[in-house]
Amino acid sequence: MNTIKANLSSIRDNIKNCTKRVNRSEEEVTLLAVTKTVDVDAVLEAIDNGVTDVGENKPQELARKYEVIGNKVKWHLIGSLQTNKVKYIIDKVYMIHSLDRQALCEEIQKRAEKINKNINCLIQVNISKEESKHGIYESDVVDFIKHVSANYKNIKIKGLMTMAPFSEDKEEVREVFKGLKQLSIEIDKMNIDNVSMEYLSMGMSNDYEIAIEEGSNIVRVGTSIFGKREYK
Ligand SMILES: *Cc1c(COP(=O)(O)O)cnc(C)c1O
Repeated sequence: MNTIKANLSSIRDNIKNCTKRVNRSEEEVTLLAVTKTVDVDAVLEAIDNGVTDVGENKPQELARKYEVIGNKVKWHLIGSLQTNKVKYIIDKVYMIHSLDRQALCEEIQKRAEKINKNINCLIQVNISKEESKHGIYESDVVDFIKHVSANYKNIKIKGLMTMAPFSEDKEEVREVFKGLKQLSIEIDKMNIDNVSMEYLSMGMSNDYEIAIEEGSNIVRVGTSIFGKREYK
């Protein structure tokens, strides 16, 4: 069995076991294959082995791969997004995981309106308050969401995304995921127009099992599928 196929199979086993432990169904969890720096052939191989959703963090790289691969999969933009690059991905993405500021909302709204498309977005939340992390502080999320809901009609907020701290301490990581889940429950109760808490995007190669135990339904996994990234 080749490597990508074998890796995917063992990740799926892990997801299955993990959901079982916490009485969830494995169908609830989307495995988002993070394909940044990975060449198109390897992405296609992953798709042949059942991958339905891929994530990129560089708009031009997403656009370049999209030209070859097209709508065989759903494309997700993960990681911080500069406003001047929205134009490369607006007509291609299924969802943007990193909505974190008003200037980005303005740009997405402007571009989305032009092509008459609604854009699914997750709010990136900086739960751990690490300064190196992007995202909105937990205390500001509700106000931000209300503002988006009231002002940007082509932006559909579908949930929250976070990145755990770089920490060996599993309990610290778990607390961050718990915090995001709790926040999504609180927001859901507010019934804000145009806002649903359908998705919780949390968990990467080294912490996706903890994330699933804490309620994640999109795990963003790169290294465990494709191996260590080579930045060229
Ligand atoms: C690169 C990246 C991932 C995947 O990380 P791995 O450790 O390779 O699984 C997930 N989310 C974001 C936002 C990333 O930039």
